[in-house]
Amino acid sequence: MIFVKNLNSISNQEWKTSEKYPGVRWKFLVDADIDGSKGISCGFAEVLPGGKLTLHHHAPDEIYVVTNGSATLNKDGELEEIKKGDVVYISNNAKHALKNNSDETFGFYWLFPTDRFKEVEYFSDE
Ligand SMILES: [Zn+2]
Repeated sequence: MIFVKNLNSISNQEWKTSEKYPGVRWKFLVDADIDGSKGISCGFAEVLPGGKLTLHHHAPDEIYVVTNGSATLNKDGELEEIKKGDVVYISNNAKHALKNNSDETFGFYWLFPTDRFKEVEYFSDE
């Protein structure tokens, strides 16, 4: 199975949000529940100015690929500015958070080594 997608081709998919993550919205691009893909999954998230992904961890490893803007990455207490073009590796159960302190939207793709996003259980560390 091989397919190509982008944000335009999934423009009819609604943005998802959660009260736990103010100013954050996301869509799914590669997910077993959508196209029957397996082994890896991918989505795209935007963090609006002032928005944040609160401190959390999960069992699967994760990768972020930053496509626009900049944000402060919390690496289990250590802060690092990340920006467009950066790739972030997060090992299993490492606590992490993101905060957009800039005045432009921060965007990134995330990847999980799971068939579907639904399999990733989020544990809050706030
Ligand atoms: Zn995560």
